[in-house]
Amino acid sequence: MKKPKVRELKEAITSLFSKPYTTKFPYQEHKPFPRFRGKPNFNQEKCVGCGGCFQVCPSKAIDMVDDIENKKRILIHNPDRCIFCGECERNCITKEGIKLTNQFDVSYLKDISEVQNKVEHNLIVCIACGEIIGTEKHIKFIYNKLGNLAFSQPNLITQLIKDLNITTEYEEKFVPPINRQDILKVICPKCRRISFIKDETKKTKR
Ligand code: SF4
Ligand code: SF4
Repeated sequence: MKKPKVRELKEAITSLFSKPYTTKFPYQEHKPFPRFRGKPNFNQEKCVGCGGCFQVCPSKAIDMVDDIENKKRILIHNPDRCIFCGECERNCITKEGIKLTNQFDVSYLKDISEVQNKVEHNLIVCIACGEIIGTEKHIKFIYNKLGNLAFSQPNLITQLIKDLNITTEYEEKFVPPINRQDILKVICPKCRRISFIKDETKKTKR
C-alpha cells in the first residue's frame, strides 16, 4: 500500500478542525463571495439597445427580437443558456446596460419567463424600405458621444432635430420613389446611396 505523503496527512488533520468550504444551501442562505459572477441583469435606464451584448455572447444566452411592424426591439437574457462569463458586461457600450449580479439560483418550475430578464426599446426604421436603422436611444447615445461631429450624418441630424421638437411636416412626409431631396430624412444607407445614384444618373443624362 502506498503511504500518504506528509503534505496530504497535514491537510487531512487540518481539515478536521477547520470550517468546511461547502455551504448548507438550500437549508441555509448562501452569501456568494465578492466578485462572484452570477445572473446578468439588464438596466432599462442605461441600456440603449445596441445589441452589442447579443453579438458577443458566446453561448447565445441573449435573444434580440426586432418587431418592425410595431417598431420595437426586445432583448431577453436566458439564464438557462448563460455561462456567466461576463462578456456582455465587459463589452456593453454604456458599461452599465447589463451587469452581472450575485444571483446564482436561477432554477424555475414551469415557465422560463420566471427567470428571464428583458429590456424594450423603440426602433427607428428607414421610411423608404423599412430596414432597421437602430434604436432611438442608441442614435441619441451616438450623437451625444460625437458632439458636433454628429452633424455630418443625416440620421443623427434628423434625430437631433426631432429631440429639439423642431421637426417640420416636410421632414416626416415621404412620397416614393426615393429622391435626392430625401437624404435628410430617416433613411438607411442603402436608400441614401440609391438617392445619390439616381441624382448622379439624372445629371449625366442632362
Ligand atoms: S454572462 Fe456570458 S454567457 Fe451570460 S449572457 Fe453574458 S455574455 Fe452571454
Ligand atoms: S447598451 Fe449594453 S446592455 Fe444594452 S444592448 Fe447595448 S451592449 Fe447590450
